[in-house]
Amino acid sequence: MSRSRPKVIRCAACEKRIPDHEPDLVLQDLDGGLPRFFHTRCGGAAYAAAAEKPGGHLLTVRHVEEMAN
Ligand SMILES: [Zn+2]
Repeated sequence: MSRSRPKVIRCAACEKRIPDHEPDLVLQDLDGGLPRFFHTRCGGAAYAAAAEKPGGHLLTVRHVEEMAN
């Protein structure tokens, strides 16, 4: 096991990595399950997943913070 491995977020729809600099959609299961992440371009899948359980999910868009540079 690698100790200093950065946490990689993968899209639940296409299973590709979501880079840190991209905004993403977070589908939080209100029953306490693990949140699922989606590319904004895979948002259709996120909305479909949310529609499976109306009121049971919280879908939020996480914007990338401006980095001081
Ligand atoms: Zn995706």
